[in-house]
Amino acid sequence: MSGRIAVIGLGPGEARYLTPEAEVELEAAEAVYGYGPYLDRVPARAGQSRHASDNREEIARAGAALAHAATGARVAMVSGGDPGVFAMAAAVIEAIEAGPAAWRTLDVAVVPGITAMLMVAAKAGAPLGHDFCAISLSDNLKPWELVERRLRLAAQAGFAMAFYNPVSKARPWQLDRAFDILREELPGVVPVIFGRAAGRADEKIVTVPLAGARGEMADMATCILVGTTATRIVARDGLPDLVYTPRRADAGRAERA
Ligand code: SAH
Repeated sequence: MSGRIAVIGLGPGEARYLTPEAEVELEAAEAVYGYGPYLDRVPARAGQSRHASDNREEIARAGAALAHAATGARVAMVSGGDPGVFAMAAAVIEAIEAGPAAWRTLDVAVVPGITAMLMVAAKAGAPLGHDFCAISLSDNLKPWELVERRLRLAAQAGFAMAFYNPVSKARPWQLDRAFDILREELPGVVPVIFGRAAGRADEKIVTVPLAGARGEMADMATCILVGTTATRIVARDGLPDLVYTPRRADAGRAERA
């Protein structure tokens, strides 16, 4: 038997967002690997070993899980949200590409999950209702200049945006710089949604105009959605606003108002 590795998305938080497919894969696994806090979300099962690792150790974690699978075991690697969005699926495949030939014979499954931006969008209304892009603001794996360039071009192209990894202790000023770049390209009324711990008990969703968006409004558990010049806020008496980006756009570049 050649072994199997399933890279599983746990969704944004509560168990009700886990897909039935992910549930089946977790049930069948002999060993579960993952970053500690994600592993904590997986209930312990008899006969299943658990291997927690630190946040920054993705490639080492992927290698350990693949070496385990190569012994013929059924191994699960868990990720928060979707495993293909700034997460472990690419790390596992990168390790397979660089690793021993035997790893290419493994049965590999990527099991999708609800990613943070979709959970936050759903809670706010439909801010990603038209063209959008997702950008990690972390400069661990790419230069900050590239982040700035992508932000500016995405704003000029009229994309709504989702920001992952918006801040960390090692990146205290970058998010404010990102908002400054957006303010150079977009009108101050564009809605910015700060979605914190979406899909968990302590969820908090706050919408502010771009003019008032500040780095201190986010932490590492926040996914930020930035609307476009077309994004609208539907106010309702006594009920939460609905933020949405209409399904139609005109031909011109989104102009600064
Ligand atoms: N694979 C994950 C993303 C990993 S990157 C996914 O698909 O969601 C980690 C970043 O994801 C965090 O810094 C934050 O920006 C975002 N994030 C993850 N879970 C979140 C949640 N429940 N609410 C809001 N943002 C979340």
